[in-house]
Amino acid sequence: MFYFDKIEGKNILKSDKLDNAFFTTRETIIKSKDPQNFDLVKANRELIKKYLQVEKLIRPSQTHTSNVDVANFDRDMYPNTDALILNDKRLGIFLNFADCTPIILYDKKKNIGAIAHGGWRGTAEKIGAKTVLKMVSDFGCKSENITALIGPCISECCFEVGGEVLNKLNESIGNNERISEDEKTFADLKQINKIQLEQVGVKDIDIAPYCTVCNNDMFFSYRNENGTSNRHSAVLKIK
Ligand SMILES: [Zn+2]
Repeated sequence: MFYFDKIEGKNILKSDKLDNAFFTTRETIIKSKDPQNFDLVKANRELIKKYLQVEKLIRPSQTHTSNVDVANFDRDMYPNTDALILNDKRLGIFLNFADCTPIILYDKKKNIGAIAHGGWRGTAEKIGAKTVLKMVSDFGCKSENITALIGPCISECCFEVGGEVLNKLNESIGNNERISEDEKTFADLKQINKIQLEQVGVKDIDIAPYCTVCNNDMFFSYRNENGTSNRHSAVLKIK
């Protein structure tokens, strides 16, 4: 279950399933291209580093791919990377969102975590499931030991898409329903990501009840805020 917690009086969103991960809100913003937010972003990054008790925060350059990489203490650049695996407790990692679906993964037994960025493209390419499979193949994780958090994103209530997009999303979960390409409809990225994770054996999944458009007072929405450069973030450390 999700609940709001505070870091020095500022809101973050957490799940009672994982105490080493959270989602930032407007108040705890750590990613923005707006110069007005630079000081706040800098201060919040320091606050979060202290809260996580990590030496460094690392983030990839997200470009709506389905590329999965592994965070490395000595490397700061992760171009074209939309999922990052973490196995170093000196590091915190974060990925940034404003409508796309954040997926946090953590294997308690192996103490390996990851964050994936599932926009509709990444979701169609099954980025969450792909990240799980890499945790399994490269780090000996077991799907049944992985907890997944699906964070705030544009939800079915507000995510209108064309038939072409819905068809690709349906295809990604083995659903054969197809609609006409020029038809407009609504897509549920949370459910599609959940099904993809279940299809690779993840059972423990918590889904945040927040929509970035309906709850735009707490989170950022690219669609609702004319392409804002502000982001809320999924943040993770290991133990
Ligand atoms: Zn909504």
